[in-house]
Amino acid sequence: MIPFLSLKDVTALHGAEINEAVSRVVNGGWYLQGKENERFEEKYSKFIGTKYTIGCANGLDALIWIFRAYIEMGVMQPGDEVIVPANTYIATILAITENGLKPVLVEPKLNTLEIDDDKIEEVITPRTKAIAIVHLYGRNAYTDKIGALCKKYNLKLVEDNAQAHGCKHTDGRVTGSIGDAAGHSFYPGKNLGALGDGGAVTTNDPELAAAVRALANYGSQKKYVFKYTGRNSRLDEIQAAVLDVKLKYLVQDNAHRKEVAHQYYEGIKNPVITLPDLLPDEQNAFHLFPILVGEGKRDALHDYLEKNGVGTVIHYPIAPHKQECYREWNGMSLPITEYIADHELSLPIGPAITREETAEVVRLINQFK
Ligand SMILES: *Cc1c(COP(=O)(O)O)cnc(C)c1O
Repeated sequence: MIPFLSLKDVTALHGAEINEAVSRVVNGGWYLQGKENERFEEKYSKFIGTKYTIGCANGLDALIWIFRAYIEMGVMQPGDEVIVPANTYIATILAITENGLKPVLVEPKLNTLEIDDDKIEEVITPRTKAIAIVHLYGRNAYTDKIGALCKKYNLKLVEDNAQAHGCKHTDGRVTGSIGDAAGHSFYPGKNLGALGDGGAVTTNDPELAAAVRALANYGSQKKYVFKYTGRNSRLDEIQAAVLDVKLKYLVQDNAHRKEVAHQYYEGIKNPVITLPDLLPDEQNAFHLFPILVGEGKRDALHDYLEKNGVGTVIHYPIAPHKQECYREWNGMSLPITEYIADHELSLPIGPAITREETAEVVRLINQFK
């Protein structure tokens, strides 16, 4: 059996150190807002290249707090528009609508699967306040053109870095440090994954950092004094300690993902399958390995691989604009986004899959008709 992702194997890679870190917190008797969060936030800021990291409960909250902070700061108002890729995981869009902001969906490019920067300027209006880019599948979605548009129209650039820990832009900046603020998820399956939920906001903006920190802690900056109507959305000390261990190995774990990805790029030769453009190594953290399967054969390939002991997952089978929760968009036509939803399949990739297992996946795929 070659599972899509074995979290047990991923944890076991650094199991002894993780267990030690968990025991330290368990026996230390301090479980929230302590030294583990402080240490992790400091190291994560260094790694990403921002002044501030604010730990919070999960990646969705991280994104929610960024937009909410901009509203509290008077930078945005409910009803303002935020440009977002139509093919993102729904959390990016939920964070926008949760704040009463209006998502403006922009199609991706089929060869990169990332937001099409040629289709952004035409949807900018006087109410546009931000572009939310998503480094989907671990691929760098930032382009200098997007940066220039933000300057020209005075827009905030928000990065959804949930899938791209350790990815870089061509100029060497790490994703999560390129925009005005970034939301990160530490969901267990992510490149930097906790043993439960976790998230963070990174930014260089001290006002935004202070607002996010307060919002994620009941809206309070001073004990029993409440500036905002916030929520309890904190990162706990056990998860911070686990993340601190795993951050040390992130570059090494990502290097392993790259080897697996290159094995797929070199080995997969099947006319039914299209691979997205191969980016320079540092621009892809290879969180997922998406392929596009032609001629209505995606589900057949999934079933064939499953029968042969290989797990695959679709990211994502129903586009956000086709979801019941956004029924007002159900009639919209976004052909590229819909094509991806109908043809995408993600192959096994991660820090624990072996070269032999990868070779077996390649062999099976090349035999698929
Ligand atoms: C995982 C993910 C999120 C949300 O993170 P959670 O920690 O699960 O809340 C947001 N955006 C993208 C693109 C994701 O993949």
